[in-house]
Amino acid sequence: MAEFPRSLIEFQRRFPDERACAAYLVQARWPGGFRCPSCGHAKGWELSTKAFTWECAGCDRQTSVTAGTVMHASKLPLTVWFWAAYLMATHSNGIAALQLQSQLGLGSYKSAWLLCAKLRRAMVAPGRSPLAGLVEVDETAIPLRRKDDPPSGGQGRSRRGKMLVAAGVEVHDGGPGRVRLATIADFSAQSLHAFVEANLAPGATIKTDGWSGYSGTPGIDHDPHVVGSMAAHIILPWTHRVFANLKTWALGVYHGLRKKHLQSYLDEFTFRFNRRRTRHAAFRSLLGIAVARMPTTYNMLIKPEATA
Ligand SMILES: [Zn+2]
Repeated sequence: MAEFPRSLIEFQRRFPDERACAAYLVQARWPGGFRCPSCGHAKGWELSTKAFTWECAGCDRQTSVTAGTVMHASKLPLTVWFWAAYLMATHSNGIAALQLQSQLGLGSYKSAWLLCAKLRRAMVAPGRSPLAGLVEVDETAIPLRRKDDPPSGGQGRSRRGKMLVAAGVEVHDGGPGRVRLATIADFSAQSLHAFVEANLAPGATIKTDGWSGYSGTPGIDHDPHVVGSMAAHIILPWTHRVFANLKTWALGVYHGLRKKHLQSYLDEFTFRFNRRRTRHAAFRSLLGIAVARMPTTYNMLIKPEATA
């Protein structure tokens, strides 16, 4: 498959119309040529009477190229889905429904919002493998926006609530690997242990600022560094950077996080962060291409990008 477009112009050239998008889906779905998902037969043809649908020569079953993807049965053109996923996957800060509506010329805010919501659903990946190796773990309090707050902060600020968030960041060769974020009820040992157990693989080593709440998590080695708060960003540079980015992102994109949706914001941030170097995988994940509903191929097993 050709290299993933690195600019808007490249993207437009690559996916100028419905046919080009459908060809990409065919390629993603059947990299070795058509194969019937029902009977496994390798012979079939594209129907001329039904858009982007193939019929099996063995069992006559018809398969749409969008089956099993987020686009299935949608009234929106494939080009709109492709553009929306591309913008969402490549904007480092993400893109809100209102921006999507104006950039794609969508008729209503509601359809832009639905489009966003459907794409975002792919950002939560159940069964993600837990963090492993050396993992920085830290916690922070994030200010929440209340319903009556002005978007820019200002007068409502003093009445704002706070939400407690825990983060784990893998450290590979001194740089950050994958991140996990979760809301926690408090900073008690019980809450912090639960976060570590839910997000780290047994045998991982956690690096913390020395807060005793982390010690004694079953199956986890602990490397506490007791420091004053001034120096915490030196001991835990990556969790601190993640928290700083998270706060900036939340203010920039959503004008502050709301409590009701906090975990989904955290999931979106995590999705973006963990795919910051694999935009193509992010694009495909958002569209629902090559996910669990498709049969696993040898290619998917040896190329993690195809299933990420
Ligand atoms: Zn068949």
